[in-house]
Amino acid sequence: MTDTIFGKIIAGEIPSEFIYEDDHCIAINDIAPKAPVHVLVIPKKAIPRLVDAQADDQALLGHLMLAAGRIAEQLGVQDAFRLIVNNGEGAGQTVFHLHLHILAGMAMPEGFM
Ligand code: C5P
Repeated sequence: MTDTIFGKIIAGEIPSEFIYEDDHCIAINDIAPKAPVHVLVIPKKAIPRLVDAQADDQALLGHLMLAAGRIAEQLGVQDAFRLIVNNGEGAGQTVFHLHLHILAGMAMPEGFM
C-alpha cells in the first residue's frame, strides 16, 4: 500500500488532510490544483492503473463513482463537475495508484471531451 505517494498518504506516513474518508477510499485536495475545486478520490486498495483493475474490483470501482458524487455534493459542485481518470504515462498519469480527479468551479474546456 505504501509504494506510491498516495499509499504513504493513506498509511498516514505523509500528513495530508482527508476531506472525505470511508472504508474504501479517501479524498484529498490536489496539491497543484488545475481548477478552483480539484479533488482526488483515491481507493485504499492500491491498483496501479484503471486497466489493472479486475472483475473482483467491480464493487470498488462503483464505490469510487458514488463517493465522487457524494464529495461533489459535499463541496456544493454537484451540478457542474468533471471526473477524470488518467490511465498510463501517455495519458498523463504520474502517480501509479488509481485515482479519480474531480474538477469544478470553472468553465470546463470543450473540445476533445
Ligand atoms: O492523474 P495523475 O497521476 O497525473 O494525477 C496525479 C495528481 O496527484 C496530480 O494532479 C498531482 O498534482 C497530484 N499530487 C498531489 N499530491 C502529491 C503528489 C501529486 O496532490 N503529493
